[in-house]
Amino acid sequence: MKAQNPIFNHPILKLLQKCHSLNTLKQVHAQMLTTGLALHTYCLSHLLTISSKLASTYALTIFSSIPNPTVFLYNTLISSFTSHSSQIHLAFSLYNRILAHKTLQPNSFTFPSLFKACCGSGHWFQYGPPLHAHVLKFLEPPYDHFVQASLLNFYAKYGRLCVSRCLFDQISEPDLATWNTLLAAYARSASHSYSTSLEDADLSLEALYLFCDMQMSRRRPNEVTLVALISACSNLGALSQGVWTHCYLLRNNLKLNRFVGTALVDMYSKCGCLNLACQLFDQLTDRDTFCYNAMIGGFAVHGHGNQALELYRKMKFEGLVPDSATFVVSMFACSHVGLVEEGLEIFESMKKVYGMEPKLEHHGCLIDILGRAGRLKEAEERLKDMPMKPNAILWRSLLGAARIHGNLEVGEVALKHLVELEPETSGNYVLLSNMYASIARWNDVKRVRKLMKSHGVNKLPGFSLVEIDGAMHEFLTSDKTHPFSKEIYLKIGDINRRLQEFGHNPRTSEVLFDVEEEEKEDALSYHSERLAIAFALIASPSSLPIRIIKNLRVCGDCHVFTKLISAAYQRDIIVRDRNRFHHFKDGSCSCLDYW
Ligand code: ZN
Ligand code: ZN
Repeated sequence: MKAQNPIFNHPILKLLQKCHSLNTLKQVHAQMLTTGLALHTYCLSHLLTISSKLASTYALTIFSSIPNPTVFLYNTLISSFTSHSSQIHLAFSLYNRILAHKTLQPNSFTFPSLFKACCGSGHWFQYGPPLHAHVLKFLEPPYDHFVQASLLNFYAKYGRLCVSRCLFDQISEPDLATWNTLLAAYARSASHSYSTSLEDADLSLEALYLFCDMQMSRRRPNEVTLVALISACSNLGALSQGVWTHCYLLRNNLKLNRFVGTALVDMYSKCGCLNLACQLFDQLTDRDTFCYNAMIGGFAVHGHGNQALELYRKMKFEGLVPDSATFVVSMFACSHVGLVEEGLEIFESMKKVYGMEPKLEHHGCLIDILGRAGRLKEAEERLKDMPMKPNAILWRSLLGAARIHGNLEVGEVALKHLVELEPETSGNYVLLSNMYASIARWNDVKRVRKLMKSHGVNKLPGFSLVEIDGAMHEFLTSDKTHPFSKEIYLKIGDINRRLQEFGHNPRTSEVLFDVEEEEKEDALSYHSERLAIAFALIASPSSLPIRIIKNLRVCGDCHVFTKLISAAYQRDIIVRDRNRFHHFKDGSCSCLDYW
């Protein structure tokens, strides 16, 4: 047995463990040389590990003096180098020495630390795939668990979900950490913002399916698993799945820790249940900046700017330091309710009070605040004076503001930049053509449309998600693929007749041109959210609010349409579009038509 070998308890090794300076290390090293301990692989590996922490050059000198280092010794030094980001290049140069060696080759213990190192910083992605090729070349399947896990981790970290999934499926009995890695990767890739794209929705659904598989495999989830699951629900607006997860947590005595709490606050607010989000937020005892960000963001998208700012102040009062995201959500809150001065003050405080250099997204919020409030010239000047190059999002926000305020001059400038930055995005052309249409400059409308065609632009398809009895239903514009399609179209006919009694006429002037990002023409009645609403009216009990998630902005006509439905059918309808929430109730909307 190992423990009986006197070398493992040798007093010099104990001294080695206590070395905290290069000088003492050198003394111990000298003793190891005189006693012959330095010839022993086990002792050498300790010496290498400790010296790599104190002085990498000294570690390399020791290593070079070893006559025939084994792969074990290479692995030891590689592993200790990879735990310091400044020494990763040394690890890789040692790895290259193994490859160049005539008789040695890397083994299962060589790769995990190298993959871990590749996860460290952005530009190491280039080293991962070639390393993967080496795994295939040098190792025999079935691969060691640590090799598999490190590969999976690496691809998940860089958002290469297909590869991660493929690797995952090859693992016969994944452990909890492995399940969590993949679940978190699905949830993380999908939940970057309030906008939900079709791909994001698919990824989130994939996370939910994966969780079902996990349950079938009888692997017990922990808090980390639930955070991933809840994030997926937030992104899908899958309220009942989210509530189920919350209940699961309570039933199974899992901890409502900060991370789970923050995820739940975010989920409830993104699913339209701001009250539940607030209740939960109040329950959490050790709230950190992330918790506050989730709640401030919740108030912001629901259009409660003042409450968002109140919370922002409270957070500072409690001694928490706002981070980059706090500034984004707080300014977002200001922009949606027209709190211009407050927003400007927050922006200025970033640098003055917190010594933080505003990033692109903060400048974006500022442009949005000024633009929405009609201070277009000021917004344009700020854009031009930015220390970095403005991206398309910023120009689009200026263009949107120019359209709301009918400022063609600024709109044209913004569009010029936009078309340069992203010639293939339809929304840009549509916004400008809307603007020309609103002042009846039809020739310019035609010109923009032509420009759009010449760039070969395709429109982004609009889609809506609605949850009925825990199942998500997805609709595209004029979609006829749903099994209840026939009933849905009949219902739309019904609705249109009933709304006409309420005095609704489709705004024909807008039919052609006020298409936020969707083609209207005769598709007007069949914008995805209308199909989703019609289906919900057929399929869900009349007392429940209808919750819809849409990937684009709601168009003007659908906004009117939904307001009327909320009155005619006495149903609350909550729509989360690309920008914010709309709570439709008794014929009006919480956004007060400012969106
Ligand atoms: Zn619409
Ligand atoms: Zn609204």
